[in-house]
Amino acid sequence: MSQLRSQFAGELLQSDAPNYDEVRALWNAMADKRPAVIARCANEADIQAALAFARDEGLEIAIRGAGHNIAGNASVDDGIMIDLSAMNAVEVDTSTNTVRVQPGATLGQLDAATQAHGLAVPVGINSTTGIAGLTLGGGFGWLSRRFGMTVDALRGAQVVTVDGEVVYATEQDNPDLFWALRGGGGNFGVISRFDFEAYPVGPEVFAGLIVFPFEQAESVLRQYRDWVLTTDTTFNAWVVLRHAPPLPFLDESVHGTKVAVLAVCHSGDVAEGAKLAATLEGFGTPVGSHLGPMPFVDWQQAFDPLLTAGARNYWKTHNFTGLSDEMLTVALDYAEQLPGPECEVFFGLIAGVTNQVPTQATAWGARDARFVMNVHARWQSAAEDARCIDWARALFRATAPYASAGAYVNFMTEEEGGRVEDAYLGNFERLKQVKQQYDPNNLLHLNQNIRPD
Ligand SMILES: Cc1cc2nc3c(=O)[nH]c(=O)nc-3n(C[C@H](O)[C@H](O)[C@H](O)COP(=O)(O)OP(=O)(O)OC[C@H]3O[C@@H](n4cnc5c(N)ncnc54)[C@H](O)[C@@H]3O)c2cc1C
Repeated sequence: MSQLRSQFAGELLQSDAPNYDEVRALWNAMADKRPAVIARCANEADIQAALAFARDEGLEIAIRGAGHNIAGNASVDDGIMIDLSAMNAVEVDTSTNTVRVQPGATLGQLDAATQAHGLAVPVGINSTTGIAGLTLGGGFGWLSRRFGMTVDALRGAQVVTVDGEVVYATEQDNPDLFWALRGGGGNFGVISRFDFEAYPVGPEVFAGLIVFPFEQAESVLRQYRDWVLTTDTTFNAWVVLRHAPPLPFLDESVHGTKVAVLAVCHSGDVAEGAKLAATLEGFGTPVGSHLGPMPFVDWQQAFDPLLTAGARNYWKTHNFTGLSDEMLTVALDYAEQLPGPECEVFFGLIAGVTNQVPTQATAWGARDARFVMNVHARWQSAAEDARCIDWARALFRATAPYASAGAYVNFMTEEEGGRVEDAYLGNFERLKQVKQQYDPNNLLHLNQNIRPD
């Protein structure tokens, strides 16, 4: 440890450090782990030193970006947490519309830097999420219909391998590694830099929420489903089934009641966005709408208050090529029995450019998926664990017959290791080969693990 200390530029924490509990905490309070060492890296040399220390000491290795992964793999009991959150610089090159992003950056930091130049990378919908974990699993959000998955915008990645070698991977250089990083998770090395292409967006978008009473959900969702796939990919609308939060634009009598929400984001012409949102409003009689032009960076933070760190969370996910009547009926039956005020089911719409990329082009290969469902059970006290988890599992099982191939590894819990091969469809064998090349001893196994053997 003293040798590591002598060469380490960042911070090394053990359980006696005053900030140990704060730094080890993950987004999901269900994962409560106590690493022997937290190596808060300041630079690439620190990553190399931390990996060498872990190898020499035989410590299990967890890698942390922004600590949002539901499976809680960003930490480990008695091992080393390689914490990259202090490496969070974002550099935008407007001459090439490319962005260099350090692995500890959050989506909020990336959006702020790119939107200052009217650019954006297609990422997720919550600003505190980490770019590293999100990208390595695939990544999608409001802009994915138009620009593809986050991995589709990745142009290069710098990787510290488990042996401490630094390699740069692109379509041309180390192409197998580059392919695997685009969806294969944290299996292949520690990424010290992501290079993305960014696209002109906003800075203003037309966005907001349309809230329908739950009784209208079935009719609204059928109309939504039939219509939304006909819209241009600049338009996006996701479905959220939950209890209404106390939002200021909703009458108090609506707060806490079950609702079906359409969350809208149009990154094209603002007037066109207003027209499209009006069509959605016409699918029923909303109990409230809050829509209008707003900075894209503001919309990217709209859901943050519902997704704060420290709650207990359990997720289940399926992909769907479409939302059939039968599937909607089943999902709504379960949504009717939401086990708590913070639990929700969402259907994220990704149909568009994501579907135009060949299945084998990137490790994330569910290229026929048009919707990704996340059953998001969320609650505060351990006493509610069984009830909330059982509900999420039951909904997952009941909707399984309607699901399409693959699964989004970033929405899978730590118990879903057995689902990894299915998640990657026909890309799994190639991922295994890349794993054999870059991490034959599976030192990096705290992830949705692709075993080398
Ligand atoms: C509130 C919330 C909202 C979300 N919204 C979306 C969304 O809209 N769209 C979407 O696609 N996903 C979304 N997600 C899922 C998200 O993509 C994953 O949770 C993702 O893993 C988070 O990345 P992170 O860096 O914060 O995670 P961490 O927990 O820090 O890391 C996750 C894993 O990634 C690997 N890893 C992290 N950094 C590195 C690195 N530098 N090198 C190698 N491996 C590394 C490790 O295996 C680690 O266990 C959301 C998650 C949350 C909690």
